[in-house]
Amino acid sequence: MPVPDTMKAWVIGDPDALSLIEKPVPMPGRAEVLIRIDAVAICATDLEVIHYGTPAVIQGGPPFNRNFTPGHEYMGTVAALGPGVDEFEIGERVTVEIHAGCGQCKRCRQGMYTSCLNYGLNYGDVDKGHRANGFTTDGGFAEYAINNINTVISVPDTMSDEEATLVVTAGTSMYGLTELGGLVAGESVVVMGPGPIGLLAVAVAKALGASPVILTGTRDSRLAIGRQLGADHVINVRSSDVVETVKGIVGQRGADYVVECAGSQTAINDAIHMTNRGGKICFAAFPHEPATVDLPHVVKNNIYLYGIRGEGRSATHRAMALMADKRFDASVIHTHTFALEDLPEALRYARERVDDAIKVVVKARGVAQKTQAGQ
Ligand SMILES: [Zn+2]
Ligand SMILES: [Zn+2]
Repeated sequence: MPVPDTMKAWVIGDPDALSLIEKPVPMPGRAEVLIRIDAVAICATDLEVIHYGTPAVIQGGPPFNRNFTPGHEYMGTVAALGPGVDEFEIGERVTVEIHAGCGQCKRCRQGMYTSCLNYGLNYGDVDKGHRANGFTTDGGFAEYAINNINTVISVPDTMSDEEATLVVTAGTSMYGLTELGGLVAGESVVVMGPGPIGLLAVAVAKALGASPVILTGTRDSRLAIGRQLGADHVINVRSSDVVETVKGIVGQRGADYVVECAGSQTAINDAIHMTNRGGKICFAAFPHEPATVDLPHVVKNNIYLYGIRGEGRSATHRAMALMADKRFDASVIHTHTFALEDLPEALRYARERVDDAIKVVVKARGVAQKTQAGQ
């Protein structure tokens, strides 16, 4: 596969200012491959990074005006191999997870590489080899990217490019439910908030045998997609008392697991009040403000609370196993596709949920450009 010397890549200037430039195509090092990016999905966290900077860290500082390329939910074709790499072949279709931890800190040694203690340390005298593409190293809104082989997963021929970009999102939901949570079949799960992670948490929970699986939210159109992905019950929080309705389904003691993907103070306290004694709550949303929570209820009821960052312990590989097996159809959350040159318009669709957008995908080839980039 011929690899050019330069490529098109979007970079962040000031906050919210993106420009499409020519960059050198990077060279893969030991345990790395070069991927020609065929499709990249936009995530709410990309919108955070482009506007606020966090959680991206480039050379110890905010990601602005550092020639940094965001984008982290991509898939593509292996285009070149680093020295000694025999795990993949040139021409193989692959998708990626984001975090390659340093491999030497306590968390990496536990498999929790998305919580690497050397996050962002991949430069100068403090280079620990950490990579989180689209956060601490260049990401996928470009024609090529470098990935550590631990973050690369083969894509079966039966899976479309667009669906393959969603495996990492399902991997995040998987990590929250199984590796961090310890979910086993037959336990009840409530997912609050039908965004991409919430919707795929429904799908993963159902595929893992959770029962019942309940989805709560404010928009009936999103709740209907949750039904398609396996929710046994859906609750519109605008038209009912969500805690009482959940208890009406699972019993007055409450649910075994709640995955909180809404992030509001009300939702956080609802999660606490619908969880049973000894139950667990996974916090997956990024609230922008500190929240006041009913901590006495948590303590008195031995409720476990945990945050989740990304998709550790190879959860994405297991999510791929479910998706390759067609245990659920993640492609129902892919709503729009744009050309790479139209990234600003694609970001606007994702941010403003134009035309009910859920997952918006950008492709470097094969999609006609709709607008003039940057205008
Ligand atoms: Zn993401
Ligand atoms: Zn580490």
